[in-house]
Amino acid sequence: MNKQSRRYFIQKIGATATMLPLLAPLDLFADSAGHQNQPMLRVALMGLGNYASRVAKAMQDCKFAKITGLISGTPEKLRDWGSTYDVPEKNRYNYSNFDQIKNNPDIDAVYIITPNALHHSQTIRVAKAGKHVICEKPMAVSVEEGKEMVDACKKANVHLLIGYRMHFEPKTLEIHRMRANDELGAINFFQGQCGFKIGNPNQWRLNKDLAGGGSLMDIGIYAVNGARYMVGEEPIWVTAQEIKTSREKFKEGVDETILFQLGFPSGAVASCLSTYNMNFLDRFFLSGDRGFAELQPATGYGPIQGRTSKGPLTQAHTEHQTLQMDAMAQIILKDHKPTIAVDGEEGLKDLYILEAIYNACKTGARQEILLPQPHK
Ligand code: NAD
Repeated sequence: MNKQSRRYFIQKIGATATMLPLLAPLDLFADSAGHQNQPMLRVALMGLGNYASRVAKAMQDCKFAKITGLISGTPEKLRDWGSTYDVPEKNRYNYSNFDQIKNNPDIDAVYIITPNALHHSQTIRVAKAGKHVICEKPMAVSVEEGKEMVDACKKANVHLLIGYRMHFEPKTLEIHRMRANDELGAINFFQGQCGFKIGNPNQWRLNKDLAGGGSLMDIGIYAVNGARYMVGEEPIWVTAQEIKTSREKFKEGVDETILFQLGFPSGAVASCLSTYNMNFLDRFFLSGDRGFAELQPATGYGPIQGRTSKGPLTQAHTEHQTLQMDAMAQIILKDHKPTIAVDGEEGLKDLYILEAIYNACKTGARQEILLPQPHK
């Protein structure tokens, strides 16, 4: 219960501040918007870096999720974040002792927001502790690892959800709705352009051991994932070409720029660009027999902007991470089914396609893609 909701709850029951300790074990929530007695998903954030800062701020506006735990290797961060977000010392952990969350009834789920290559082992440890896992994209750095994560979470009977925030973004969902309702006609073409010029050459994103690759793992994954939910099918083949202007900055195994093409069972094709060396690339375009849809920016933190052949998209902006965490709380606590899946199997499909793109770059040959499940 955050401070605001706690205050509202106290007002509601006419209690005084002296009764606060009696309320501590409650995980029910009543907010000023009248969502009374809603269960709250109690989340521990793991990896208190840039993106976690954004998530933490956005979660202050969540109705169904709240921060109750912190995991970091830096004691000062645990102290500072602990006081900012009202997380008691007993709910703060480091990377050596976080398995102990097993015995902490204040934590339902852990949101893993660390470098990509750490997601695999951290997910498995969280699952073994019996807590639900929310894991940032890419869920892992190989198909093999992704499969192990899905299996570990199944075995532990916990949810595994991947941080695909665009799956809850209103303009994206409107295009998805139009396409699913056949308002754009048969889809023929998708274009996804995702990239930015990356700075500091010493960051983990340019270290193969921590990132698992380069731009494709980090930003190109939005085009891969977007192609799938925009077209509404799973790709069956890929061709790809890699371009590298600096072998010093973008070392072996760290891709700078990749162009890739996807083919879908209906005959639709996608043409995509992933890059760490060009700016102002954040655009989706979908072409159907009877209409088009365009998003630009398509995957930034927003506001997302777009139009379709029917006119501009006018859905209001809300912080993506607020929408995502509220929706994920509903998935975990109430078994809600999102319009576009965000589970481990969804993340795993992207890993299959990423691997196929890398293989196509290496071999120069078209790669067939056989995904484990049909489109959800
Ligand atoms: P970051 O470098 O800002 O933060 C990473 C955090 O992990 C830091 O606090 C760092 O101290 C910690 N960490 C733990 N072990 C580490 C190790 N061995 N080496 C380096 N750091 C270690 O990175 P970020 O931008 O917050 O990205 C974290 C994850 O979030 C990545 O998987 C990234 O793809 C994902 N991300 C997702 C979005 C999105 O929109 N969904 C946006 C940004 C980042």
